[in-house]
Amino acid sequence: MLIERIWVGNPGRNFNYLVACEATGNAVAVDPLDAGLCLATAARRGWRITHIVNTHEHNDHIAGNAGVVAATGASVLAHSRAATRIGRIDREVGHGDTVAVGTSLQLEVLATPGHTLAHICLRAGDALLSGDTLFNAGVGKCSKGGDPATLYETFATVFAALPDSVRVYPGHEYLRRNLSFAVDREPGNTRARRMLERIENIEGAAAPVLTLGDEREINVFLRVDSPEVAAGVGGAPGSAPATAKEVFLALRRLRDRW
Ligand SMILES: [Zn+2]
Repeated sequence: MLIERIWVGNPGRNFNYLVACEATGNAVAVDPLDAGLCLATAARRGWRITHIVNTHEHNDHIAGNAGVVAATGASVLAHSRAATRIGRIDREVGHGDTVAVGTSLQLEVLATPGHTLAHICLRAGDALLSGDTLFNAGVGKCSKGGDPATLYETFATVFAALPDSVRVYPGHEYLRRNLSFAVDREPGNTRARRMLERIENIEGAAAPVLTLGDEREINVFLRVDSPEVAAGVGGAPGSAPATAKEVFLALRRLRDRW
């Protein structure tokens, strides 16, 4: 499996992805926003885009579909709940489905609702294309068709079952801003503070690829069991400790205003 992470360089800080079968050069474009960039990257690598997968229905994750389809005839795959917004879907996919690309690439579909109710992530070996569900050092917001409690359940079930070794490929590059929030909520997290210092001048195309193990150390939304994080969103002194879900929802509300 080969992955190209494409930095779009737009104000929304999107990443587009091509994931290719090494044996055939057939590739899937994930969340194409800039069709020209995706096509140029495929041409440079000698790959042929045969599939498009949209992790969800927001315009900045689907706007490049038409251009890629016009140039390649690729088939479009997405969750059935995204169909009306995306328009043309050739195959509706859901949790546990497999998308085969070429002869050697298998993508596993994970239903990960929360950012929107139609959201899916893709797992290809040790890579996780996480769309707008999991960002580096943060999680997706829920104000455009999503639901924070549903997002919490996705993390507590689907993501909790994934191993530390999984490399995370998110839909946007928000690392510095997310880390700033994480450090603000958990000043005692020295790993997060050191990473924030280290990436002071590193962003966009140069942003590091982190693993889920890294995220479990620096991403405050994955650290709802940390006493410092829980205490920071706690209720009145003497009240019962907040549950993991309450901490997560409080963090999401704080991040929305941060
Ligand atoms: Zn989105």
